[in-house]
Amino acid sequence: MYGSQLILLPDDCSLPVKRQRKRKKTPVPHAPAPRPPPQPAPIKCKGFKQKQSTYRLSVAPSGRARCRRCRAVIGKGETRLEISAFVRPGRYTLLLRCTAPSCIDAPLSAAILSVYKHAERVPVDAALEGSAEAHRVVHAITYAGLDAQ
Ligand SMILES: [Zn+2]
Repeated sequence: MYGSQLILLPDDCSLPVKRQRKRKKTPVPHAPAPRPPPQPAPIKCKGFKQKQSTYRLSVAPSGRARCRRCRAVIGKGETRLEISAFVRPGRYTLLLRCTAPSCIDAPLSAAILSVYKHAERVPVDAALEGSAEAHRVVHAITYAGLDAQ
C-alpha cells in the first residue's frame, strides 16, 4: 500500500498564479505631523533640551492682556515685559508682565540676567528706546537681580 497511492491531479495543472498586482503605494506627501493639542503652560518636558526664554520690553498695544503675576490688566500704552517662554522646539508662548516693582521680582530678574547678563541688553521696543520708562525697568531688573544672588 505504501507508495502506491495515486495522486489525482486536476486536468488543469497550472498552479494558481498569483496576480502580480502592482502595489499601489499611496504617495505619502510631506504632510505635517498632526499637531498635538496646545499646551496651556510651558511644562518642563523631558526628551528635548530646554531653551531659555527670551525677554523684551514693549508698550502694550491694547488694554486686554493681564500680567502673568499680579493678574492686573496691563493698560494700553503701559510698559510691559514680554516673556517668550520656550515650550518645545520651535514653539514659544508669549507671557506678559506688568512692570510694577513687585512684578519685576527677583526670580524673574535672575532669569533675565542669566540670558542677557545685563538688563541694558534686554531688547526694547523702538517706542521705548532711551525712554525714562525703559531706564526704570532696566534699573528694576538690575536691582531685583542683585537681590536674587
Ligand atoms: Zn503685575
